Amino acid sequence: MHFHVISLFPKTLDSYLGESILKRAIEDKKLKVSFYNPRDFVVNKWKRVDRPPYGGGPGLVIEALPVIKAIESALKKIRPLPSPSPRSRRGGKKVRSVKIIWLSPSGKQFDNTYAGKISKRYKHIIIICGRYEGIDARVKKVFKMDEISIGPYVLMGGELPAMAIMDAVSRQVPGVLGNTDSIEERRVASSEVYTRPEVFKYKNKSYKVPKILLSGHRAKIEKWKIKKRRSTS
Ligand code: SAH
Repeated sequence: MHFHVISLFPKTLDSYLGESILKRAIEDKKLKVSFYNPRDFVVNKWKRVDRPPYGGGPGLVIEALPVIKAIESALKKIRPLPSPSPRSRRGGKKVRSVKIIWLSPSGKQFDNTYAGKISKRYKHIIIICGRYEGIDARVKKVFKMDEISIGPYVLMGGELPAMAIMDAVSRQVPGVLGNTDSIEERRVASSEVYTRPEVFKYKNKSYKVPKILLSGHRAKIEKWKIKKRRSTS
């Protein structure tokens, strides 16, 4: 899985990608993340990408052309595409090559079902991060893309939403989580988990692990987990 992130502030994602499971997945070449900065595609010598909005209003809007050129440069890296053969299928669905995601608080709500779908169907995912008042909407007319929101709130930029999407999609890429059973959709995952010690004391009160989890009774434990299960899709 290769993520291509279009961002004015690529460094904001370095620390998250440089730790733990994602770091290992990148080292093991299960994942790749490339960055394209629209600022590198600006012709004026001040490298300015943001301008006041037509129609007035506060804030600045990122110009369309530097973003289009950044997307083009990602697409150039992706192509030439291997011609899709009937063998290049995962889970019975044809693997297409590129999905482009436009981040916006008013897009379609991102969820685990969408994450699973794109992890299976695409090899390359281009994620376009806005900043300020957003990016000139004409970019959406040039390329076919999905407009996605990570939730009903407005953030200052698309970098955290891009990271949330990369995290959720990567978990579903085979080999990223060491144990395939860790992928919650394939088992009964619990929203309540416990580890050692069996009992601990804090401010004179004892806190115990639920008895059922110590019972060794598989079927009953599964039933308990189902009761506690959160919705992941
Ligand atoms: N004025 C814009 C908001 C701009 S927020 C509007 O009302 O639609 C700046 C950028 O942050 C957006 O372009 C988008 O890329 C990103 N962003 C903010 N909140 C987001 C969310 N909930 N989901 C996805 N992207 C978001």
